[in-house]
Amino acid sequence: VVIAGGGPAGAATAIALRQRGIPCLVLEPAALPVKAGETIPPNALPVFQQLGIGHLLQSPQHIPCTTNTVIWGHEQPVSRHFFAEPNGNGWHINRAYFEQQLQQYAIEKGTQWHTGWSFTGMEEKDDHVLIHCISPEGQNNVLPACFAVDASGRKASMARKAGSKRESLDRLTGYYALWPALPEALVNTTFIEASEQGWWYAASLANEQAVINFMTDADLHQLPDNSLPDWLYEQLQHTSHLKAMLQANHPQQLQQVIARPASTSCLTQPAGAYWLAVGDAACTYDPLTSYGITAALGGGIYAALAISDYLHGNTSAPDAYCYVQQTTFNNCLAMLQHQYALEQRWPDSLFWQRRTAKAVTEDSSATPDFTKPLR
Ligand SMILES: Cc1cc2nc3c(=O)[nH]c(=O)nc-3n(C[C@H](O)[C@H](O)[C@H](O)COP(=O)(O)OP(=O)(O)OC[C@H]3O[C@@H](n4cnc5c(N)ncnc54)[C@H](O)[C@@H]3O)c2cc1C
Repeated sequence: VVIAGGGPAGAATAIALRQRGIPCLVLEPAALPVKAGETIPPNALPVFQQLGIGHLLQSPQHIPCTTNTVIWGHEQPVSRHFFAEPNGNGWHINRAYFEQQLQQYAIEKGTQWHTGWSFTGMEEKDDHVLIHCISPEGQNNVLPACFAVDASGRKASMARKAGSKRESLDRLTGYYALWPALPEALVNTTFIEASEQGWWYAASLANEQAVINFMTDADLHQLPDNSLPDWLYEQLQHTSHLKAMLQANHPQQLQQVIARPASTSCLTQPAGAYWLAVGDAACTYDPLTSYGITAALGGGIYAALAISDYLHGNTSAPDAYCYVQQTTFNNCLAMLQHQYALEQRWPDSLFWQRRTAKAVTEDSSATPDFTKPLR
């Protein structure tokens, strides 16, 4: 099995395939990709255990998250402590280190890992598939495979080559930056605050730094070309609690702001004759859910199960996989709609109005119907 992409979805698929003794190879272009997303909720733990990677979270590079403090729908912060959760606390991970750990674990379990290699195309043959890829030296290569996995993230490089499209429900974008540190009392907390143009989260990291992240629709703002840090800093002034909370460790200015698409979306077709998509390649989730990494890891388990069954002659296994992806996505949408509807303080804000409006797509003006089967 050839897997395009070595993020959480690609690594989890490889680990779960190796648990079934299936040979696999991962193509990953970047040695150390920079990615947003560091919160692992408590209910993710069974997924980690199923993959045999629970111990990776015990590294001092990751810190426990014991509380969510939320300002949403009202001015008063509400805290939810995880001590009563069946799985205990969640985590704020060092994302780059976590991806290295996953890669290392997948290699230890027998995965071939090609760093610097990119997937470029695919040809379906009678009973197999040919994967085209480029080596770090720029050479074109062709790898024969029984099955291929698209774990290339939002780009969904393989699925797009196969003709599938991404349907997006919104234009959410995350603008994130590092902050020196949060106050001591909030070190193990994920802090979320809604504001007129979007919402914020702040989370401490292990290296005495914190990440702050403003989630908004990019098209609602006149974004400066050269000074996103100044713009983000100005947006921060529109918060009430977060602004006050960050004052204690006030940097002279934000060093660097990185913008990343964070819309909720899914593929029109997440699987084909010899391939399937997993993680962000298949479905992306609003970071409000804190579900992206867990969905990628859990999707890897289900993908490996479907591939294993398929290779043993059960040709409907990829259909069952698509059904699980679709149902999970639809359940998540319902939960998101409920959560956004709880914030009614800014009825004139387009950002909040859009959260109750109909879906939009990047590829056409048609509204996607997520009640239809994905395949
Ligand atoms: C602002 C923001 C905040 C977020 N916060 C959270 C959070 O707190 N908690 C959470 O759980 N999730 C969060 N997420 C989501 C989470 O980061 C993603 O869901 C997760 O990275 C998905 O993993 P993946 O492996 O599917 O994709 P990715 O992590 O994107 O990995 C895809 C990999 O494919 C590789 N690739 C790309 N093209 C090719 C190609 N042609 N050939 C081979 N490989 C290729 C890339 O280099 C990359 O390493 C957040 C996302 C954003 C944008």
